[in-house]
Amino acid sequence: MSSEQRLSLIVETQREIAAANDGLEAVMTLIADRSQAITGADGAMVNLVEGDMLHTRAVTGIAGVVKDAQRPIASSVARHAIDSGQPLLVEDAPNDPRINQDLRSMIGDQSLICVPLFQGTEVIGTLNVMSRSRQDRLDEDDRQTLEMLSMVLSAAVSRAAEFEARRGQARAFGRFRTLFDGASIGILRIDGECRVLEANPALEEMLGATAAELEQLSFTDCIAPAHRRQAQSRFDDLMCGRRESFQLETRCQRRDGNLVWTLLRAVRESASDQEPASAMMMVENISERKRAEHELVRQAELNEYQALHDPLTGLPNRVLFKERIEHAIAQAERNLTRLAVVLMDLDRFKEVNDSLGHAAGDQLLAKVGVRLRGAVRASDTIARLGGDEFALLLCDLAEPEDVAPLIERVRAALERPIHIQSLPLAVEGSIGVAVFPEHGDAAELLIQRADVAMYEAKRDNTSHSYYDATSHETDLGRLTLVSELRRGLDRHELVLHYQPKLALEDGVVRSVEALVRWAHPTRGLLCPDEFVPVAQETSLIGPLTLQVLDEALRQARSWRDGGVELGVSVNLSMRNLLDREFPRQLAGLLARWETRPEMLGLEVTESSMLANPARAKSVLCELSKLGVRLSIDDFGTGYSSLSYLRELPLDEIKIDRSFVINMGTEVNDAAIVSATIDLGRNLGLDVIAEGVESRAIWDQLRLLGCKVAQGYYISRPLGSRELLEWVTRRGTGTFVSVAASAARNGRRRAEGTKAKKMELAGLEPATSSLPARRSPS
Ligand code: C2E
Ligand code: CA
Ligand code: CA
Repeated sequence: MSSEQRLSLIVETQREIAAANDGLEAVMTLIADRSQAITGADGAMVNLVEGDMLHTRAVTGIAGVVKDAQRPIASSVARHAIDSGQPLLVEDAPNDPRINQDLRSMIGDQSLICVPLFQGTEVIGTLNVMSRSRQDRLDEDDRQTLEMLSMVLSAAVSRAAEFEARRGQARAFGRFRTLFDGASIGILRIDGECRVLEANPALEEMLGATAAELEQLSFTDCIAPAHRRQAQSRFDDLMCGRRESFQLETRCQRRDGNLVWTLLRAVRESASDQEPASAMMMVENISERKRAEHELVRQAELNEYQALHDPLTGLPNRVLFKERIEHAIAQAERNLTRLAVVLMDLDRFKEVNDSLGHAAGDQLLAKVGVRLRGAVRASDTIARLGGDEFALLLCDLAEPEDVAPLIERVRAALERPIHIQSLPLAVEGSIGVAVFPEHGDAAELLIQRADVAMYEAKRDNTSHSYYDATSHETDLGRLTLVSELRRGLDRHELVLHYQPKLALEDGVVRSVEALVRWAHPTRGLLCPDEFVPVAQETSLIGPLTLQVLDEALRQARSWRDGGVELGVSVNLSMRNLLDREFPRQLAGLLARWETRPEMLGLEVTESSMLANPARAKSVLCELSKLGVRLSIDDFGTGYSSLSYLRELPLDEIKIDRSFVINMGTEVNDAAIVSATIDLGRNLGLDVIAEGVESRAIWDQLRLLGCKVAQGYYISRPLGSRELLEWVTRRGTGTFVSVAASAARNGRRRAEGTKAKKMELAGLEPATSSLPARRSPS
């Protein structure tokens, strides 16, 4: 082909390309087609640069096999053309090292020309033309032709590529429009002065204004006044290019004045200095999240408040009280002042709770809290430590005596009756005081010592008492015991052992005495002497007795359900006999365990009635009306008059063991026992002897006409399971003594402590063989 012919073909091609505004694909195919024709080659392809890759977009002739192939530019022959910016002629393709031979063998070309295509100075692709012919190889002429053609092609390809990119942009913009209009998030564009250029429907709704209304505004006008300055400075930074974007949580102001929490995200749009500054913004309504966050914070604060305050009175609780003391101690140390920890326990609060109900009790506590608050200085702390126990922290005292007027004010505040359910209740409390630094230098110690002083006040029946180290050193153990016992009762650490009572006549076990022990968590099983007296001095005896009764009745019920019918007796204390509520509580327990009242015996000592004989009598009458059996325990040790005893609704006299134990040797004791048995007979009362330790005593008591016996000779107190085994082993419970011997009893006394320990554990001492059953007579 002559060069004129070629030139005219090029011009024709240019025209054709110009006419085909069919887009990039068609233009590229046309280019490949014409290039092949003009050079008389066997195939051609147009590749576009896509990043590091070369993408074959149009093919003709033998290049058809690689349509749409992609390969790295680096491993392609095109690299050499691209690097030099010149068309490359490869005349001996099979032997040219620049050629990718895998690709070549697929196409089967012997020679080729690779022409870079430009947009401006940038290579955007290549045109490859190839020939299979070994004789008619592509040559320098063809290269020059294609070089000429490449100008035309470059322009066409880049125009088409640009057009395609714009179409892509239009499509993207269309997609953006859909997003913009349909987004649930507010989107807007603003200019350099923050004026709203465009706003989407979500933003209109969020701000309660139409886009037209918004477009009158600067967006900063939509930000709540309090946040405006901060937002403005961010916008300034953005618009003058100090930052590319920003995020800000801020409150926006709706047109109706309401505020909305939002998250603003702004991105600067304008890339060059020529264009006017503008920014794209997203505005997310985060009110819900803010509300949730706020709620969380509030809840956390509330939790903290609750952890440190008593819910009933709103006063600080023990934890906060201690914290305040520690704080006050530090201050007092700096200022060389004193402080006082004052504990107050309401007297007879339980009565209010029991007779008027817990709601009334709660009301009373709340009102006491208010009264106390009014009685002290603002700088003092009032706390409720639990139950009916209040505490005061009085700071800034010069002398320990300075507490006195403050305590007087507290007492005065409680003097006026408090009205609950329109009843005027007189409130009194026992008050204990411990002073820093005299009585202790730490919160816990001061509280503990104020507690000691408070018990002292209660015991001595005085309104208040100061901690006194000398007189309280010995009491400390006792007082620790009180608080331990209180806790022990809460945790049900009491255990009952049972000692059988035997009818002397036929040896049948008809009932048992319940004897309490305390399974102390660190000190082991404690016997009643170690804690009952302490309980009797405090109000703890009330709950203790109720727990013992509850457990004894439960146990008797469980034996009965198992076919073993046993009466059970329980020991009462003086306080129970003064407690008018007690009969009602007992009736409740009998009902609870569905127990016939005559199956329950109550043992009361003479001395327990002495404190208030009239009241004791009336409570005993109430108890007797319930149908339970009443015994006078430890008979002979007290000083009650016979005439008084005669008035009591008694069923039984229990001769004290101190007389029984020695009646074999002490004539006086034997006389007392004998007289008591006679007395019982005369009064129509059963007589039971406790402390029967030997066969001899047993026999003696039988001869004297005593009805029932109880004592180590028969059995030591046993755990509930052991007792059941003991009774079961005895069949129907008939009994006769054979095994007891004086020698053994002597030994046992010598082993007293050990035996006591074993008894507490509910075990039989090894030396004691059980009295065997009497053969049926
Ligand atoms: P108590 O009512 O006189 O109980 C009988 C005590 O005598 C028991 O001691 C028992 O183990 C012991 N004993 C039984 N047989 C013999 C014997 O043959 N020889 C000797 N030397 N002692 C014998 P325990 O269990 O140590 O109880 C001591 C006291 O504690 C009881 O004397 C009673 O006053 C009181 N107590 C026990 N349980 C309770 C209770 O639940 N409530 C109250 N308020 N007091 C209780
Ligand atoms: Ca008893
Ligand atoms: Ca007794």
